[in-house]
Amino acid sequence: MKCPYCEHPDSRVVDSREVSDGIRRRRQCLGCCQRFTTYERLQPVLLYVVKKDERREEFNKEKLLSGLRKACEKRPLPVERVSQMADEIECELLALGKAEVSSTVIGDMVMAKLKALDKIAYIRFASV
Ligand SMILES: [Zn+2]
Repeated sequence: MKCPYCEHPDSRVVDSREVSDGIRRRRQCLGCCQRFTTYERLQPVLLYVVKKDERREEFNKEKLLSGLRKACEKRPLPVERVSQMADEIECELLALGKAEVSSTVIGDMVMAKLKALDKIAYIRFASV
């Protein structure tokens, strides 16, 4: 990061401490010796879903969950099991390490999980 005073590219860290949402670093410019502060924050990974018509949409776990709930409606399945399935799918998707994933891939993951869990829910999901 460039010095905000003289735009020198290098600085040294004189102090760093954890704050509630990241790390705060006090820096000293190696050019003009002025001090400034930088913050490091964790940025959640954004995943985009590529729809059949090529449109991109941000991955939305709530949406996935509501689809799963619909498929599992009135089935003898614990509510936690259904939301756990959404968590697992989200995890597996993020583990792919890709910025975009096709909606078909997500659909296949859901189908594989539902098939193992409940045949009726599986058929319902497959029909939409
Ligand atoms: Zn400077």
